Amino acid sequence: STTDSHGGGFKGHDMLAPFTAGWQSTDLHPLVIEKSEGSYVYDINGKKYLDSLAGLWCTALGGNEPRLVAAATTQLNKLPFYHSFWNRTTKPSLDLAKELLETFTTTKMAKAFFTNSGSEANDTQVKLVWYYNNALGRPDKKKFIAREKSYHGSTLISASLSGLPALHQKFDLPAPFVLHTDCPHYWRYHLPGETEEEFSTRLANNLESLILKEGPETIAAFIAEPVMGAGGVIPPPATYFEKVQAVVKKYDILFIADEVICAFGRLGTMFGCDKYNIKPDLVSVAKALSSAYMPIGAVMVSPEVSDVIHSQSNKLGSFSHGFTYSGHPVSCAVAVEALKIYRERNIPEHVKQIAPKFQGGLKAFSASPIIGEIRGTGLILGTEFSDNKSPNDPFPPEWGVGAYFGAQCEKHGMLVRIAGDNIMMSPPLIITAEEVDELISIYGKALKATEERVNE
Ligand code: PLP
Repeated sequence: STTDSHGGGFKGHDMLAPFTAGWQSTDLHPLVIEKSEGSYVYDINGKKYLDSLAGLWCTALGGNEPRLVAAATTQLNKLPFYHSFWNRTTKPSLDLAKELLETFTTTKMAKAFFTNSGSEANDTQVKLVWYYNNALGRPDKKKFIAREKSYHGSTLISASLSGLPALHQKFDLPAPFVLHTDCPHYWRYHLPGETEEEFSTRLANNLESLILKEGPETIAAFIAEPVMGAGGVIPPPATYFEKVQAVVKKYDILFIADEVICAFGRLGTMFGCDKYNIKPDLVSVAKALSSAYMPIGAVMVSPEVSDVIHSQSNKLGSFSHGFTYSGHPVSCAVAVEALKIYRERNIPEHVKQIAPKFQGGLKAFSASPIIGEIRGTGLILGTEFSDNKSPNDPFPPEWGVGAYFGAQCEKHGMLVRIAGDNIMMSPPLIITAEEVDELISIYGKALKATEERVNE
């Protein structure tokens, strides 16, 4: 039985939620969202909700940003579509490539390739990496290493890269060229007495062992989210990326940073790579690239990779890959404007300023007896419910603790992401101090109600 009409409830909550995307039926009693305004959305009955997930970790600039609407309508009136094939393209697509490459300053990136989504960006990465190794005459260097609990998308290849069993079991995935290494979740996986640094060393050693077992000459690339998102919001433990990058570099393995959630200020830096000093060879972005006002993703390629692909000695011919809507002019025009806004308003700095209030206010609830861990950084946060504060004592799934908490948030006017007993939040990056107060207050009310329910 459920206690509300669209999926919340103490029992029988729809764990199918992530997988109903795209299947629409009124039988599912969906919550129908009609309008957005700043950090809020409204349903068709006019009820207002604080959108603590920014849509799906993506509407960084919130609802109704007039400059994005103007960028879209101006472009629609001028040129709603032209493609980017055979050395033809559009001005917005060129402008976005320039703007995006300039925005990424962790290392220098040479070229951008546009897709419609993060999944397509990561699929594109796989083809790019294979093409690159083929161009270098080493076609056997083609395996990918990703991490358990990562999320890289839903197409066959990006779902293969993802480390979530639910994305594999029903589909005969992962593809055989994808391997998974440890999830860097210190709270859940550290050994007794092991520090974060020691944990990171052990994981880097495990990664090296996997590479040596498979043969370094067969491993093409390692892919990682700076902070893991859909796997439960998992920031890296201290020294993790430093150690993992050293291993990857040692064996001439490319590093792909999946910045689909972290890019454009979410962690208080323009990119997640800036925060953790990641020096990637390839970068995937999507979501906040256009503040989600139009679908668009992109891959950025380092000069070293680009030089191989575009060198005269590369006899493979063109990189035969592209989508009808690659570089869609309306999406690109909106994304150009979004990137300008991130820079002009210094959105990463705003996040840095407001993060202590958001993180501190919510982490103050860590003492709750039903919370195992609250983790996060910048404007991204995960709450994991468990008994005895232990990762090994989850509540019985049929209790639906996370679902009940989510339903309580909804009742009090806030939308959160629920995945079992994990609750995830990543509000719009423009969220104000007052809105953070409201978010914390609703969280507190929902937590109190959930504690009472668990103790009944
Ligand atoms: N990579 C990461 C880190 C993501 O969080 C997501 C989506 O949530 C994707 C890739 C896939 O992006 P899309 O849903 O746009 O295909």
